[in-house]
Amino acid sequence: MKIFLNDTLVDSTEAKISVFDHGLLYGDGIFEGIRLYNGCVFKLDAHLERLEYSAKAIMLKMPWSRQEIADAVCETCRANNLKDGYIRLVVTRGEGSLGLSIQNCKRPQLIIIADTIQLYPEEFYENGLSIITVPTRRCNPAALPPSVKSLNYLNNILAKIEAQHLGYHEAIMLNDQGYVAECTGDNVFIIHKGELITPAASAGALKGITRDTALEIADELGIPWREANMTRYDVWVADELFLTGTAAEIVPIVEVDARSIGNGKPGAITARFLESFRRRVSVEGTML
Ligand code: PMP
Repeated sequence: MKIFLNDTLVDSTEAKISVFDHGLLYGDGIFEGIRLYNGCVFKLDAHLERLEYSAKAIMLKMPWSRQEIADAVCETCRANNLKDGYIRLVVTRGEGSLGLSIQNCKRPQLIIIADTIQLYPEEFYENGLSIITVPTRRCNPAALPPSVKSLNYLNNILAKIEAQHLGYHEAIMLNDQGYVAECTGDNVFIIHKGELITPAASAGALKGITRDTALEIADELGIPWREANMTRYDVWVADELFLTGTAAEIVPIVEVDARSIGNGKPGAITARFLESFRRRVSVEGTML
């Protein structure tokens, strides 16, 4: 497998970074997860824009232009003969010294991995998924804004561990006010009385690219949508519920905290979102 490292493709056995890289020492870096469908990179520009915003927020100056990174992403996919897959783009603060100061970190590192992806089984889309609310809260935006897609994922990993210990694949994370923020790697949407509602970024949600696509689909389907604070009660009594994410796409949720959502089967409106999403990924994207 070929990995893009800084400005060139190298064999995966040669793809190495320093143990003094602050990405490793402190989780000081940012990343993107991007999908390749049928030889086209889905929403590449939106992912690279979010990467730039994450970099700006953590004051990491990337020495590459958006076009250079886009070209590198496509080159990595081509070098690995991929038509469908998952692209992990990582930018670290680079090699520095022990200690938090970034002053010695002179050269950010760009890593692009393009590989096949372990997808959710099709039965999750057909039968829906059961999830649970876990105790670990989403980071307070005043501490580390969840809009920054940073290498600091311990918060989400703890929530994922809690869910998996109880036999669940995904978990709802609340913010420190007790409102629903998002899941460990997905955004949350409810449909109630014909309206689509999702937590705002200020409530601790990542500005998901799939989330934006779901909002575009809502416009296409003529379904009114808004961002709002959501309680667990709002989730429990929702008519339908679904999650969005680059890896997960659009997954129907049929049970939350042992309460059935709607009639306990994937909802009809959710099915229309999934259908439109799958149509979009088959016709949109940056060709390799
Ligand atoms: N929230 C979190 C915490 C995530 O890590 C992700 C990405 N896996 C998402 C939401 C969904 O974002 P996107 O649609 O851009 O993949």
